[in-house]
Amino acid sequence: MKLLIDGQWSDAENNETLNKYNPATGKIMGTFPSASRKDVDRAIDAAEESFEKWGEMGSVARSKIIYRAKELIVKSRKELEEILMNENGKIPVEARQEVDGVIDQLQYYAEFARKITGDIVEGDTSFRKIFQYKVPSGVVVALTPWNFPAAMVARKLAPALITGNTVVLKPSSDTPFTAEWIVKKFVEAGVPRGTLNFITGKGSEIGDYIVSHKKVSVVTMTGSTSTGQRIVSKTSANMAKLILELGGKAPFMVWKDADLKNALRSFLWAKFWNTGQSCIAAERLYVHEQVSEKFMTMLVKALKGMKIGNPLTSDMGPLINKSALEITEKFVSEAETRGTKILSGGKRPQLSGEFQNGYFYEPTVFGDVEQDSDLFQEEVFGPVIGSATVSDEDELIAKANDSKYGLASYLFTSDHNLIFKASEKIRFGEVYINMPGPESSQGYHTGFRLTGQAGEGSKYGIEEYLKLKNVYVDYSGSQLRIETVREELIQ
Ligand code: NAP
Repeated sequence: MKLLIDGQWSDAENNETLNKYNPATGKIMGTFPSASRKDVDRAIDAAEESFEKWGEMGSVARSKIIYRAKELIVKSRKELEEILMNENGKIPVEARQEVDGVIDQLQYYAEFARKITGDIVEGDTSFRKIFQYKVPSGVVVALTPWNFPAAMVARKLAPALITGNTVVLKPSSDTPFTAEWIVKKFVEAGVPRGTLNFITGKGSEIGDYIVSHKKVSVVTMTGSTSTGQRIVSKTSANMAKLILELGGKAPFMVWKDADLKNALRSFLWAKFWNTGQSCIAAERLYVHEQVSEKFMTMLVKALKGMKIGNPLTSDMGPLINKSALEITEKFVSEAETRGTKILSGGKRPQLSGEFQNGYFYEPTVFGDVEQDSDLFQEEVFGPVIGSATVSDEDELIAKANDSKYGLASYLFTSDHNLIFKASEKIRFGEVYINMPGPESSQGYHTGFRLTGQAGEGSKYGIEEYLKLKNVYVDYSGSQLRIETVREELIQ
């Protein structure tokens, strides 16, 4: 793999590389460049130099390149699905859905070419106007996570580029190959030299340098809250606009009048899709006491039937890396130390052959979890969840809101009063009622509290990449009268 800087593919300037492991086997699947600060400088310089030309090209011409990239992806999508399975450990249906998401997002954002509008506002006196233009911001640094390594790249590149910005993309060190494949499609589609630059390397080594660079106007990052907080502190130097999509701790609420089969289907998706490694993953299960026994019995039965192992034939793949597996185990051992009741799972599965060293963990559920425990307060980001019973609506809403995160939430009920009350009272960016996720391109993906700042998707997400410029014009043709300037001075 190579870096893409100013239209040229090259190794890192210092020739250093990093290893990438296959999560299903634990074996090295390849190496990728570890970019230096000099590489970062060159990439940001190239993005800045190509900014004016890309902006002047116009949004319709830019959209043609995005449409072309989409078509190229459609044509060879199987390759991308294959990379996603090898690099991330996704099962085939998850890889297919993610590529569907990439295609959908490129289409959706390219359609904005003719929808970027401004305003003409009356001035304070006659024959004066204020033209409010939406203009590109400048150089965008896009930092993407490993859990949806293709969809997140698409969700950042397409809106940044259609709005006339130039980009330096740095993907997660756990998923560089997926990002490289997509970048190559953009290059093949005709994105001009320097407009899209691609660098790889550890965020802990080059991240601070990239985000605080004086030529950067926007930093869009999807990742953990701790990285987001660090970026907030490092960008005081350049005052870059921040789009931060961070952690989640979604409550999944099953009320006494819910359709339990629908709730279970959606829960299995919300919790175990992508092995629980999703920002909108169910992370807390609250079930009404009247249906708790029935629902939990159905759930445990379903979990015991889930197949884990070879991602090609399983219901759930491995965790992304060894450290994620160890964090998952830590949540389980801490809950056990606290005396929390384990209802299903709770260990690594016994696998043989090439998958015995993969980062697999059983789907796990705990019962009677206390509200202040780590299981209910910290993001697990793995196939482990705690549950508790609730008995009244106010308790349900209070417990759901008791989180430092505020991204997704789920409610299953047929009580219309509760639907409207909860939708109003639950302080989360996304409330899914009687349905699973994920979010749609036309929805605004955003969160409250430590889930971050700004958002992605919809016209609101597009606007995050634009600056609103105000041009004041006097076309009266008459002499100006300015009270604080004495007329005698004007000869
Ligand atoms: P992460 O460790 O925070 O990494 C995210 C990205 O930031 C990676 O590209 C990473 O590069 C880079 N990075 C790390 N340190 C940096 C620094 N000091 N400065 C600049 N960039 C830095 O997150 P992750 O583990 O990849 O992703 C999991 C997290 O993402 C979870 O918390 C999840 O909830 C969240 N997530 C949120 C959403 C959402 O829409 N809200 C969606 C998906 C995931 P390296 O890989 O090289 O460290």
